[in-house]
Amino acid sequence: MLSVEGLNAWYGQAQALFDVSLSVGEGELVVLQGLNGAGKSTLLQSLIGIGPRAQGQIHWQGEPLNTWAAHRRAKAGLGFVAEDRRLFTALSVQENLWLVARPASASSGLSTSAQRFERVMALFPQLKTMLHRPASQMSGGEQQMLALARTLMTGPRLLLLDEPCEGISPVLVAAMRDALLQLAREGVAMLVAEQNNILAQHAQRVLVLTSGRMAGAA
Ligand code: ATP
Repeated sequence: MLSVEGLNAWYGQAQALFDVSLSVGEGELVVLQGLNGAGKSTLLQSLIGIGPRAQGQIHWQGEPLNTWAAHRRAKAGLGFVAEDRRLFTALSVQENLWLVARPASASSGLSTSAQRFERVMALFPQLKTMLHRPASQMSGGEQQMLALARTLMTGPRLLLLDEPCEGISPVLVAAMRDALLQLAREGVAMLVAEQNNILAQHAQRVLVLTSGRMAGAA
């Protein structure tokens, strides 16, 4: 589904990724571990097309992605949730969700925006109780849920998640974990960067980045 071969990335002269190779199969949950600064965010950002200068082969469903802009990668079925969430904080929960809704496409697992909306409400009942609240007035964990819910509104087939359970309350960590495992059961593939071992125990594979190099098996 996704395959990466020999990916290198640089911030100016400083190389952050060295010859990284990995794959994520259809419906697979793959966890990416590594210490702070190991390159997890850089790798996820490179895959969605917002990373620093990079070289290497990235294939999605057999097609080379390297020259595709981020929006084209998203349209093809890649969904990304950044560590800093990147919400529209002045807008309500509902507005954040509908802003990214788009017509159904062949890459989408769900057929209409209305169905996707119902789906994310079922996954995150907490959000249903605060549909009109500005994102700025939500807790960190609630914002994290909204960020994931917003990405789900685009109907991704592969989720690239940067530390989805980091720095949120234990109750919301459990809700987030359960939602992600539910999505995995439904066949949404995931590559999840995490340091806290919330999802690793449920993953098909755990990859380890060390100083920009892949130590685990691809
Ligand atoms: P963390 O868990 O702390 O976010 P990470 O594993 O996601 O860490 P990255 O954020 O990808 O690691 O960082 C990889 C390397 O790239 C580090 O050496 C970091 O200092 C460097 N780096 C990251 N972002 C930038 C940037 N915008 N400019 C310059 N160097 C950067």
